[in-house]
Amino acid sequence: MFNKIALIGIGLIGSSIALAARQKNLAKNIAISTRSEKTLAEAKALNLGTSYHSDAKEAVIDADLVILCTPVGVFEIIMQQIAPNLKKGAILSDVGSVKEHVQKVITPLLPKGVDFVPAHPMAGTEYSGPKAGFPSLFEGRWCMLTPAKGVNEKAVKTLGEFWQALGSNIEIMEAKHHDLVVAITSHVPHLIAYNIVGTASELENVSKSEVIKYSAGGFRDFTRIAASDPIMWRDVFLTNRDAVLDMLGRFLGDLDELKSAVERGDGQALEELFTRTRAIRKSIIDAGQETDVVDFGRKV
Ligand code: NAP
Repeated sequence: MFNKIALIGIGLIGSSIALAARQKNLAKNIAISTRSEKTLAEAKALNLGTSYHSDAKEAVIDADLVILCTPVGVFEIIMQQIAPNLKKGAILSDVGSVKEHVQKVITPLLPKGVDFVPAHPMAGTEYSGPKAGFPSLFEGRWCMLTPAKGVNEKAVKTLGEFWQALGSNIEIMEAKHHDLVVAITSHVPHLIAYNIVGTASELENVSKSEVIKYSAGGFRDFTRIAASDPIMWRDVFLTNRDAVLDMLGRFLGDLDELKSAVERGDGQALEELFTRTRAIRKSIIDAGQETDVVDFGRKV
């Protein structure tokens, strides 16, 4: 599909794109750039690309597709570095978990003749770095594209085809709407997980070793989410504040109602809610977004 792709950032997502693109033969050349020599050496040892660069602006030269795969908080700085070297006619994209903020910081720095098509693959694990990547990460998952109004339709189509070739289903939506959807499906659940694991680690009358030993009672599943990369998630909450606060407000209202039901001993209200939520898990499994096995079908 492309003569040259440049991946800026080669952690879990960047390396999974590199592996899948190589496996499916989507690019002749894959240029890889990352901040640290250590990560660059890891990427090289894993044979993720065809060229390796400590300098992002060197990696993007002649690239037909450039994808930003670092935490969202550094997109603006990276963009300032690479913008002068982006090829006319190139597609610029990213994989950031927040889209309105990304559009706001990238658009003013976009050179003429380069099309910016933001993307967010709804796939991931709690692991980080190039060794965490695997080529089937995006298979059967959704990738949301959030191009601004007026963006070159051909570029949107091409990027959509690229993600489809990586195995994803694609959906095009407005950045603002994307941010609301992921606030409830991803960001608030992460905040809840970070909070419950934090609370458990600070309990005084139940020891930490008891929390760890008896974790299978539900806590363990929260710890998987709460093990996600601290920098990436810091940036998510700094850049998707409004949507997160909106959804968090609703969550806290519902939690308050749940607390009242427990206080009242209202078994009917509890049972009704738990029946509804059980059906939601079934719908997720039926939609192929989860498997009904004890390891949750996780590949790593
Ligand atoms: P990751 O495994 O932690 O890798 C991060 C990459 O960005 C590394 O190459 C790292 O370079 C580089 N980086 C980190 N901080 C940097 C900085 N300050 N300046 C320049 N480069 C920096 O991250 P990831 O999980 O692949 O996530 C990457 C992006 O994908 C994020 O924007 C995230 O929102 C999005 N995303 C993540 C998931 C997920 O589940 N993980 C899912 C969908 C989308 P060094 O190692 O060389 O420092």
